[in-house]
This record gives sequence, structure tokens and C-alpha cells, in this order.
Amino acid sequence: MSASTSERALREAVVATALAMNAQGINRGKSGNVSVRLSKNGFDGFLITPTGMPYADTTPDDIVAVTTNGEARGARLPSSEWRFHRGIYRVRPDVGAIVHTHAPFATALACLHCEIPSFHYMVAVAGGRNIRCAPYATFGTQELSDHAVAALEGRNACLLANHGMIAVSTSLSAALALAVEVETLAEMYWRARQQGEPVLLSSEEMDVVLDKFRTYGQPD
Ligand SMILES: [Zn+2]
Repeated sequence: MSASTSERALREAVVATALAMNAQGINRGKSGNVSVRLSKNGFDGFLITPTGMPYADTTPDDIVAVTTNGEARGARLPSSEWRFHRGIYRVRPDVGAIVHTHAPFATALACLHCEIPSFHYMVAVAGGRNIRCAPYATFGTQELSDHAVAALEGRNACLLANHGMIAVSTSLSAALALAVEVETLAEMYWRARQQGEPVLLSSEEMDVVLDKFRTYGQPD
């Protein structure tokens, strides 16, 4: 996200990302939520999808601005999960956007309180040797926020027990792409487990992959 990106453009991008989340099959209905960091003119916080609105009916004006102190500004109420968005932005200056979904395979694993281990090298795309599953806490609570922040330490994605998953990145498009990748990995892991116990890559091999990912791709 460039510093010159207008708040209007960010609001439009939040709506587009929420719609894309459902169109790409990683979320259904009104569950899930999307936010992007907003720091300008003395405002320090984020823009987040409103609570309880179908994304097809959500306009840029329905997106709610929430300060890091938890004050909501807008015509709508923010997503009931605004606390873990705030918690993540507070401790992760590298995070510019957050996508939270109830993606079917990631959530099925989360209902088993099962992390995604190093069964595939792409697990490293989330920043570490595994993708953790945060312990259960009631939706919307500070306790859930604390669990999510801990599960995301050194990671850009985590599962939430009996709930769903979170993907974070520098931009909305990157966070959405990571959420799609995590759901793809969750589906692969689920299917592999139907046939037996997947062979895990060693910590040493995952460290090699993590090192390669740090230098992979086009320079910015
Ligand atoms: Zn949720």
C-alpha cells in the first residue's frame, strides 16, 4: 500500500477483498471480516467491514474506522471481531491488512485443535515451520485477541480453534492470497490424512525453504 493511497480507495479495496473472499470459496455468507491499516492526519487505526451485513450490500461508506483505542467512527458498527484486528495491528507494525475467514478445511482442522505441520514445503509461506492453531475463546473477546496474537508470533497466518483462520500481510491483496494458500494447504493436509499419516519435512529442510522464501520472487 502506498502512502498516497486515499482512504476512499482503501474503503473500496476492503469491500472488494470481502467479496473476493467469498467468490474464491474461502468464506461463505456474512462470516469472516477484512481490515486495512489506516494512519493519516492524526488518525491511528484501521478500516474494517461492518458487522452483520452481506458483502454484496456493503458499500465503501459502510466500512467502519476503528482507532487503536477501540473507538469506532462510522454509520455502522464494526465487525464483532474488531478486537483481534486491533490486537494484531498494535503489536505487528509489519502488518498492513488482515483477512479472517471461516474457510471450510482450515476450520475443520481448527475444530480438531490441529495445527498444520510441515507436511508440505508451502507451509513456510506463512512464515514458519508450521501454522499454529490458537486455543478456543469466545468470538469478539479480548481473550481471543490475545490467543490470536500469540499464535501469529513469527507467523503471518494461524487457525482459531472451533472458529476459523486469520491471514495477515502488508496489503489486502497479499493477505487474501495468503488466506487462499492456507485454505489450500488445509485441504491438502485433510485429504492426505484420509489416507494415512503424512510424512513431515524436517526442521532443517523447512529452514532451507524459509531461507529461500526470503529471497524468492521479484524485487519490490
Ligand atoms: Zn470469525
